[in-house]
Amino acid sequence: MSETFTSVSQEEAGFRERARLSFDLDADICVIGAGLAGLSIALEAARLGASVAVLEGRHIGWNASGNQLGTVMPGFALPLADLIERIGFEDARELWTLSKEGAEFVRANASEENMPGIGLSDGVLEVSNVDAGDRLISRLQMLNEDFDTEVEGWQVDRVREALKTDHYFHGVYYPKAFQVDGRKYVHGLAALARRAGARIFEDTPVVSIDHSGIRKRIVTPSARLRATHIVLAGNIHLGAPLRRLSETLLPVWRYAGITAPLGERVREIIAFKGSVMDSDGVDHFRVVDGDRLMWESPETTWAARPQRFAGSIKRRIRSIFPELGNVEIAETFGGATGQTVHGMPQIGQLRKGLWVASGFGRQGMNTSAMAGQMIARSILWGDDRWKLFSPFELVWAGGATGRVAGQLVGIWSRASSAAAGSLARYRERARIKDREREARLAEANRAAGTGPRRPPPDVRSSVRPRPAPPEPAARGAQAQAPEPVTPDHTVSQ
Ligand SMILES: Cc1cc2nc3c(=O)[nH]c(=O)nc-3n(C[C@H](O)[C@H](O)[C@H](O)COP(=O)(O)OP(=O)(O)OC[C@H]3O[C@@H](n4cnc5c(N)ncnc54)[C@H](O)[C@@H]3O)c2cc1C
Repeated sequence: MSETFTSVSQEEAGFRERARLSFDLDADICVIGAGLAGLSIALEAARLGASVAVLEGRHIGWNASGNQLGTVMPGFALPLADLIERIGFEDARELWTLSKEGAEFVRANASEENMPGIGLSDGVLEVSNVDAGDRLISRLQMLNEDFDTEVEGWQVDRVREALKTDHYFHGVYYPKAFQVDGRKYVHGLAALARRAGARIFEDTPVVSIDHSGIRKRIVTPSARLRATHIVLAGNIHLGAPLRRLSETLLPVWRYAGITAPLGERVREIIAFKGSVMDSDGVDHFRVVDGDRLMWESPETTWAARPQRFAGSIKRRIRSIFPELGNVEIAETFGGATGQTVHGMPQIGQLRKGLWVASGFGRQGMNTSAMAGQMIARSILWGDDRWKLFSPFELVWAGGATGRVAGQLVGIWSRASSAAAGSLARYRERARIKDREREARLAEANRAAGTGPRRPPPDVRSSVRPRPAPPEPAARGAQAQAPEPVTPDHTVSQ
């Protein structure tokens, strides 16, 4: 496996000389933020011939973009059913198609030639925490037929062959979804953008913008820039340039860890090669470097050091895969995602020449790529498909109260997911016990010669266990033999 999960962002941040903007500059497009969104826009716009300057306050991939798992799926963080309900079937279909184009943009960029060691591999499995096989069929049908997305439904047995745990039931397999080394991708994207002619300045925070004229002004601590278009791709950290915009995002920090090498047993217990995520958005993991497990799970609405979560990641792994035993977490990382109130990204033109690309939540790989393509093409070609996002307005995320509420909702939805999972597993165990009991019942009836007739459920549940009657041959020999049981009182245990 070519994937290696060394701490890329630190290497890149620490040892590469960073260019800081220290002179005044003119450009067609100024992008604020060198995360996945900003760099995708810069790459596409530079490829289309624009002069582009990217201003990054810290370093490339400093936040979520340089600390993510690299799973690339079609769609959005908002579930498809909710998207259809919100904007209707046809528009949902168009947005879904755009999201797939975003994924293809990532695939095309992430070749070994463009990004050595990027380790692209196909196949992502979404597993259900509850036994929801009946709902699965209509979803599969819709994805395959109406949304032109290749998916396979996996029965419980198949899921459990691939993942040795009773936590998961059915699965949806996306053969065309894929994964890359997420932390390398953002640096590869920066290298491609530079190659296409974009200029990237790090340690260059934008402190204010004046977006009123045709040529807009951007102010940094040591230089000014003028541009016809400004793209705000600063996610939750945008701050001063347009504080009201940052306030439409609920910051959610997500944390991940990578275990020390686990040896061959990890492949026996997790035989699936691609990324796995559960349908409640709680756990997300895959095996990397041959025998290490990369696992994302905890989240908070305040910033914390990722190391703090090593223990909870370890416990989470143990609760899902007890057979792995006590794993050691060798490395932790994390970043803040910006979540919108409606769950869809913010993509579009706020006023002439002022663009926004943020709010990608936990599904930013394909959606930020899609935003990059759409905004660059809109600026340079007049493509106005970004208007499909206009139903998703900028809604205030509630400030500090919103964060507290967000944390509570997060805790509640994780707890209810855990409760639903426990209930589903309890029901499954009860069903297995029922089946075993019925098998014993059939066997006892067969032995008693009473045939396979079964009492009605209300009677069966009230019947107390009775010993099986003796064989007819033995009966005559026993003066005190019990009366033969009537069919309604056959042995129920
Ligand atoms: C642990 C984790 C795992 C994840 N895994 C996946 C995954 O597998 N697949 C997936 O699709 N998504 C995943 N995500 C989500 C994805 O990482 C994000 O949606 C995406 O990175 C957001 O990109 P962005 O460019 O909008 O924001 P950011 O990464 O936050 O980039 C914004 C940049 O703008 C800069 N900036 C802000 N304000 C200013 C300013 N005023 N001046 C200059 N610069 C500024 C910041 O310094 C920052 O570098 C994951 C996220 C986390 C945290």
